[in-house]
Amino acid sequence: MTYDPLISRGVSSMLPAANSYWHATHKPPTLPPLNKKVNTEYLVIGGGYTGLSAAITLAQAKQNVTLLDANSLGFGCAGRNGGFILSGSGRLSLSAIEDKWGRDTAKAMQGEFDGAVHLLKQRIADFDMQVDLVEGPYLKLAHNSKQAELLCASAKHLESHFNVPSSPLSEKDLIARFGIEGAYGGVELKGACLHPLKLVSEYARVAKELGATLFYDSPAISIEKHKTGYLVKTPSGSVSTKHILITTNAYTPKRFHDSVDNKQFPVQSSIFVTAPMSQEQRVQSGLTSPMSFMDTRMMKYYYRVLPDGRLLFGGRGAVKGKDADKTSEKERLYRAMVKSFPSLSGIAMDYFWSGWVSVSLDSMPRIFIDNKVSGNNASRSSGNIGYAMGYCGSGVSFAAFAGQRLAQRMMGSNDVDLSLPLYHSPLKTYPFAKARRLALHGLYQWAKIAER
Ligand SMILES: Cc1cc2nc3c(=O)[nH]c(=O)nc-3n(C[C@H](O)[C@H](O)[C@H](O)COP(=O)(O)OP(=O)(O)OC[C@H]3O[C@@H](n4cnc5c(N)ncnc54)[C@H](O)[C@@H]3O)c2cc1C
Repeated sequence: MTYDPLISRGVSSMLPAANSYWHATHKPPTLPPLNKKVNTEYLVIGGGYTGLSAAITLAQAKQNVTLLDANSLGFGCAGRNGGFILSGSGRLSLSAIEDKWGRDTAKAMQGEFDGAVHLLKQRIADFDMQVDLVEGPYLKLAHNSKQAELLCASAKHLESHFNVPSSPLSEKDLIARFGIEGAYGGVELKGACLHPLKLVSEYARVAKELGATLFYDSPAISIEKHKTGYLVKTPSGSVSTKHILITTNAYTPKRFHDSVDNKQFPVQSSIFVTAPMSQEQRVQSGLTSPMSFMDTRMMKYYYRVLPDGRLLFGGRGAVKGKDADKTSEKERLYRAMVKSFPSLSGIAMDYFWSGWVSVSLDSMPRIFIDNKVSGNNASRSSGNIGYAMGYCGSGVSFAAFAGQRLAQRMMGSNDVDLSLPLYHSPLKTYPFAKARRLALHGLYQWAKIAER
């Protein structure tokens, strides 16, 4: 049974966790459900990276904060992603941001994206988080010669305009240095990866230690506005609160709250993990050390060598939730891996799972407090509702940063530059919400032909 946010009215606490390699190698702590009425100043709805980070920020500021999640720790993307730590979020490159809003805005946005990576690494160090952090090369690989030229030109632009160091790699370099065949060129950047489920467990530990109250298996099923705040009900309890932070991201159910309904498009991404590669397979495929990769296809493939010598390989998933585990979906992804690494043909697929990423209409995530839907005379004294979502599949570092920013905005902090595109407007509403899946199907068919 797969949860489908465009169809379901809620994440049931009965749904099983993903059958992921992460769950096979780490058991997150069990946190209690809410079985009573509670009062809190801030209520966070959604306990992935965004929500837990918001709770940490509020607790660090000595605020009274309660968090509800509908299922177990790591049920959402936090327990399903590839664990790549990337600087950036949304789907716009720094150059695209520069073209649209100018150099100063692009630089300030780069500050936010790099700030996200810095925050993650700082918290790992400050709170001694055990998350299997591995550093190693991150290669962007071109899947045709035109993309190779574009990739190199964009790397040069990033280096000269934004100080992002990278080394161009020719087809020959890729073979000689990494044993990678079949790519038309690429660029090498600094990369880092971690165990995503261990990260969410560590965030939960820290949030609790700092004084946040966490309830899991407790879906928020209704949000009522009252004179001085909100009443949020769960199946066996309720929370009276002044402020609500919605951090349910791509797992936000259908018709959940006016501030987020139809504001993002949940799209599936799928991952499989192979059996451990033999030494011969590793040498033949060039996958000898912890490295991570992304290609230039419209429907990107991403892969990394795991610390125990398995290959994690990911790409787009099925259009509908009910098709997530179909054999044809597994085979499509497996074929793509064999195309990149012929020597791995026949290797067993030990794990396969999928998750939902939240795509915003204009490719820009938002961290926003919606005064229009908070109430007619919304103010901090009568309560606010805000959200952070729309990361378009890039949130291992950024989601926690967004959670911190959302908490700061909720507390009325002046630290956030509200003129940036991340903060100054709400997520755009998707027109023709019902046709979204049809359009996605069409896009996948077109990409299949265009990228043959
Ligand atoms: C297959 C896959 C691979 C990815 N790989 C990468 C990667 O390598 N690098 C990268 O940077 N990003 C990656 N991402 C994206 C990244 O994982 C997400 O951007 C990030 O985890 C989002 O965190 P979040 O806390 O906002 O959302 P989530 O972790 O999805 O948390 C949302 C939570 O809300 C809860 N919820 C839903 N409804 C309710 C309700 N009514 N009441 C209470 N709780 C509710 C859910 O149970 C869930 O736990 C990937 C995503 C997927 C799916």
